[in-house]
Amino acid sequence: MTRVCVIGAGLAGLAAADALATGGLEVNVLEARNRVGGRVWSERLETGALIERGGEFLTYGYDATERVAALVGCELVGMGIRYPDRRLHPDPGIDRDAALLAAAAVEAVATADPERAAIDVLDAEVADPAIRELFASRIQSATAHPIGDLEAGFLLGVSYLMKNGECRRIRGGNQELARGLAARLGDSVHLRTPANAVSQDASGVQVATADGQVAADVVVVAVPVPLLRALTFDPPLPGAVVDALAGVRMSVAAKLAVPLRAAAAADAVMSVPGRYWAYTTPCDEIGGRTVGSWAGSTPVVAALQATNGPATWIAGIRELWPELDLDESGAVVTTWLDDPWAQGAYSVLMSRDPDEPSLLATPVGRIVFAGEHTSPDWSGTIEGALRSGERAAADVLQLVRSS
Ligand SMILES: Cc1cc2nc3c(=O)[nH]c(=O)nc-3n(C[C@H](O)[C@H](O)[C@H](O)COP(=O)(O)OP(=O)(O)OC[C@H]3O[C@@H](n4cnc5c(N)ncnc54)[C@H](O)[C@@H]3O)c2cc1C
Repeated sequence: MTRVCVIGAGLAGLAAADALATGGLEVNVLEARNRVGGRVWSERLETGALIERGGEFLTYGYDATERVAALVGCELVGMGIRYPDRRLHPDPGIDRDAALLAAAAVEAVATADPERAAIDVLDAEVADPAIRELFASRIQSATAHPIGDLEAGFLLGVSYLMKNGECRRIRGGNQELARGLAARLGDSVHLRTPANAVSQDASGVQVATADGQVAADVVVVAVPVPLLRALTFDPPLPGAVVDALAGVRMSVAAKLAVPLRAAAAADAVMSVPGRYWAYTTPCDEIGGRTVGSWAGSTPVVAALQATNGPATWIAGIRELWPELDLDESGAVVTTWLDDPWAQGAYSVLMSRDPDEPSLLATPVGRIVFAGEHTSPDWSGTIEGALRSGERAAADVLQLVRSS
């Protein structure tokens, strides 16, 4: 029987493993943490509120997510907010139709010249300073990367960000997707087992862990880019792949969750100048008694002093949303740059044509890659992780068939 070793029990690795096990292959999944799910991490506060410390919003076109949810018996539920169609604070009184028109103009220029600086395109194409600032703020927040460091290709998401559909979460927490896949894989998932090195030759693959070597015919490497760069490969990965990996920027993001003393209706408010936002949802499963907040990009995380605890951020929320009755004693901040098994939030990659070959997703001998960063048009998302896992499983089967 063909043996496959999967490194990483995030959604990408688990989706690949599940498809391969279903296809009759022998699969072992090595996971460094003491839990599955990786950057999807659901937790209960002392109040009983369910929070998402990582990937949260399931928006439009999340087909693979819906497939996996159905497979593992999970239900998607509406959050009552329209990601990320938010109230703005202070409210510059932007006309939605004017903003949509401006978004179309920006996207036309970005399509023609995706490598131009994003900020130049905004300056040239958006006459209204309030709309310009809104776009800059939204793109910076969504990519979790400073707008001044982004190319125009990233502006192609502007009208998507203005869409009005309700966003969703998984009932019981998004991590249920990972737990459900892991349950199907049973004792093939090995927690607290980081892989250190991968070697391959004509006869197979060896994956080195602190407990010894795992032998396989093919390996799926489904770890975040910084951890992929840190793995030792023998023989080394081709120079072009190493260069492509070196060029991937990782975003920086943090999340805050604060219990509320009184229930709040589902709503979302964005600080346009502060470039962060906050939201309430019944998906906290205790009746909207939690406010969540998202800070994306290094300057925003730094301004909110997220790495020093919740105090500065909470002061910002009080100003942004004075109606909320915050119980700051139960606040939880999650930062991802200092997470040893993520080392950042997600990859900052421009969407590509899915039919265009990508070096990050191309097998190297017996090594197949998965992970959000290998998804051409869904990088940085839960959907991208799951799609990449499905694609990686197909790559493995192709390798097996051709060997
Ligand atoms: C704060 C935050 C908010 C987000 N918000 C959203 C959102 O609202 N909507 C959305 O769609 N997406 C969101 N995302 C993105 C989404 O969560 C990720 O794209 C997705 O979960 C990545 O899955 P993955 O399997 O590619 O990687 P991961 O989930 O990181 O899985 C990789 C796994 O590999 C393990 N690992 C690493 N190194 C090793 C090693 N050497 N050996 C063994 N195991 C190893 C890790 O512990 C991890 O479990 C967010 C992410 C973050 C961080």
